[in-house]
Amino acid sequence: MSESSKESLIRHWANSAPHAWLKENPLWVELFAELLARMPGKALQKLLGSARPLIVLPPVYFGRVVRLTAALPAGANILQLDARLLDRPRDEAVGILAHELAHLCVVTAPHADELKNDLEADQVACRWGFRTQLAQALGRDLESDHPRILAVQNAA
Ligand SMILES: [Zn+2]
Repeated sequence: MSESSKESLIRHWANSAPHAWLKENPLWVELFAELLARMPGKALQKLLGSARPLIVLPPVYFGRVVRLTAALPAGANILQLDARLLDRPRDEAVGILAHELAHLCVVTAPHADELKNDLEADQVACRWGFRTQLAQALGRDLESDHPRILAVQNAA
């Protein structure tokens, strides 16, 4: 996928109705622009260009109504953001979001074991090129001998 078709896919996605909130939130725009621009085209196509849209919901302040006014024949993947993500160093926020999106690109069906799901998503995020960012985020959030940290350190 060429850089210009990646750009137009991202622009189309960002301009879709559910993401109107992005227009008033330049910090989130910057974060997603960096994240998506660095993702492989194939993953972008799967996440942004498929019949099952990725809908990113803005952080919730006390409560919020979300109106989905169009039919979603193949469902949707909804990513709910947390405002605290913007308080973290940019690389960590990118790593965390890459991990979340990677969950949607793991080829096997989700397991009952959440750790297993996280380990698989981490591997996908590392393959996409977010190993450093993910390692930084995990290093802040988890004990240094946590299986996710060890697996990311050993990721190719
Ligand atoms: Zn996860």
